[in-house]
Amino acid sequence: MRYVRFIKNGRIGYGLLEGEGIEVLERNFLDGIFETDEKVRLEDVRLLSPVSPGKALCIGLNYREHIGELEMDRPEKPVVFIKPTTALLNPGEHIIRPEMSKRVDYEAELCVVIGRKAKDVKIEDAYSYVLGYTIANDVTARDLQEKGGQWTICKGFDTFMPIGPYISDEVNPGNLHIQSRLNGKVMQDADTSLLIFKIDYLISSLSSVMTLEKGDVILTGTPKGVSPMAKGDVIECEIEGLGILKNTVL
Ligand code: MG
Repeated sequence: MRYVRFIKNGRIGYGLLEGEGIEVLERNFLDGIFETDEKVRLEDVRLLSPVSPGKALCIGLNYREHIGELEMDRPEKPVVFIKPTTALLNPGEHIIRPEMSKRVDYEAELCVVIGRKAKDVKIEDAYSYVLGYTIANDVTARDLQEKGGQWTICKGFDTFMPIGPYISDEVNPGNLHIQSRLNGKVMQDADTSLLIFKIDYLISSLSSVMTLEKGDVILTGTPKGVSPMAKGDVIECEIEGLGILKNTVL
């Protein structure tokens, strides 16, 4: 299934994407699938981020060649940071570059959406806690990123977490083509098979610390090819089977 959250005539709705249409659900798909007879056309709605997560856990340095371009060392354990929910941005909306930064980068990432409460999950059970997958852009004020220090500031500005356009449970997350394009030019081009710390391991290790709740997301890290965005730029993050997450830069 492909899950969407949308706005139509000022009202937020939830639905299942079917071709060019949406089958409207009675309530948030995180609470179960309750179908209605209502259908709307995709062109008549605006898609929102499919989830509004309670927490967004992000993994740094999870592709070998990206570690190289940042001139950092490969971590022995996952580098984890949290993006505040106020950073959430809908597809199509503007990423706002803060005045205090001179360099704001895109980072295309596979985003895992948790479907049910998870605590102390075994690796072999981890995928049963996943609702599906979507795309995130882990926008980063690179010049404010401290090596070996905190990352919450450089990645925590408002609008620094575009997510969408939909969640799919129809993909194999271990083997997906991932790409970003800046003004149409391919900048990142990789495959999720290159993840150092895999999704099942991440769910297991994170859930050994904190409860993961339905709607929480895990941003799994970005491949090499990051670079800055300027005013007026269009950034597209695309993952095979998950569509295109497109935003503009202010
Ligand atoms: Mg990242």
